[in-house]
Amino acid sequence: HTQDFSVSTRPVHGKVGRVPVGIGRRRIRIVVTGGAGFVGSHLVDKLIGRGDEVIVIDNFFTGRKENVVHLFGNPTFELIRHDVVEPILLEVDQIYHLACPASPVHYKYNPTNVMGTLNMLGLAKRVGARFLLTSTSEVYGDPLQHPQKETYWGNVNPIGKELIQQCNDILSCYDEGKRTAETLTMDYHRGAGVEVRIARIFNTYGPRMCLDDGRVVSNFVAQAIRKQPMTVYGDGKQTRSFQYVSDLVDGLVALMEGEHIGPFNLGNPGEFTMLELAEVVKDTIDPSATIEYKPNTADDPHMRKPDISKAKELLNWEPKIPLREGLPLMVNDFRNRVLNEDEGKGA
Ligand code: NAD
Ligand code: UDP
Ligand code: UDP
Repeated sequence: HTQDFSVSTRPVHGKVGRVPVGIGRRRIRIVVTGGAGFVGSHLVDKLIGRGDEVIVIDNFFTGRKENVVHLFGNPTFELIRHDVVEPILLEVDQIYHLACPASPVHYKYNPTNVMGTLNMLGLAKRVGARFLLTSTSEVYGDPLQHPQKETYWGNVNPIGKELIQQCNDILSCYDEGKRTAETLTMDYHRGAGVEVRIARIFNTYGPRMCLDDGRVVSNFVAQAIRKQPMTVYGDGKQTRSFQYVSDLVDGLVALMEGEHIGPFNLGNPGEFTMLELAEVVKDTIDPSATIEYKPNTADDPHMRKPDISKAKELLNWEPKIPLREGLPLMVNDFRNRVLNEDEGKGA
């Protein structure tokens, strides 16, 4: 039986894919920037698992080799230590652009969102690759619309939080950086004909999540494991929607493979107050866990919940894993890492 290289059951972009991985399906080469990070490493697992070649570009700013070490030695996997702020030459079919200093403690003054996105768009233009941007629900700012639809323009303070005293979280360079990245993406689409996709990701959790980046799920889970009180900021009545990482990865792939540019909200519409979240963590990890109230940062969005009807209709995607099922799936990973870290500190 000879395979037909010319027939593809799904679109193959660019000119690189040559190797058949199944009947009528060519292996393609995919770059994942930020692929050693939390979301990126799960995405890489999925892409390698379906038979494609993956090149990860990561500067290990917040990512870790441990997240991809199980792929070392796999001939379809390649890891490049590189800062996307610098240009790079590669021949690829698809680019998932996730590189981003994702957490408040890391993203101050970082040009990744603008320069990194520009370079990856330049690369996509040169080789004819399809480019997917992972934007964020933060582009909606402190939203005046609830739940948020993709058509909402957002409520963001462009000069942001650095003007507010005692606030260390300079958020505006993150949300404005992502808004600029979306603009650049659409400019390359309209101006240079680059095939683009835009995802707006809502709060996501799961194994390999950064331990120390101050996000609420990682904080509560690590605190409960360490038998420390869970720190609730403000009155704890602000809401968020928490998505399990495998649901997000499925959504990103559906978006990349589909015919629609977006932007698409990718999130789980289940909405929880921080006090309710603390309750779920308590039930999952330690029924004796306690909470402690701390002041909240200024400008913290009061509510956030995605309207995902667009992704449901056009990508045929919706999340499958509710919080009470997803949280237990990250506990073992967190327990191991928290204990290792505490041992390392001599605790
Ligand atoms: P993460 O910090 O685990 O991953 C980001 C990765 O990018 C890290 O591996 C980091 O080392 C790498 N990186 C940062 N700057 C880089 C640079 N200049 N060059 C090369 N690599 C660089 O964060 P994550 O949660 O996996 O986020 C992935 C993407 O999803 C980000 O773009 C983030 O903005 C977006 N997002 C995530 C969430 C969430 O809840 N996790 C929500 C909204 C948006
Ligand atoms: N770029 C890159 N790899 C490539 C092609 C471009 O890193 O394969 C970078 C390039 O160095 C530039 C950016 O992407 O900084 C934008 O490229 P583009 O060709 O759109 O812009 P120009 O170089 O014409 O200003
Ligand atoms: N938060 C909290 N305790 C923590 C960390 C965060 O109560 O230890 C709150 C924070 O004030 C915000 C919500 O949890 O209202 C979500 O914060 P996170 O930084 O995880 O995500 P984002 O604000 O980006 O949605």
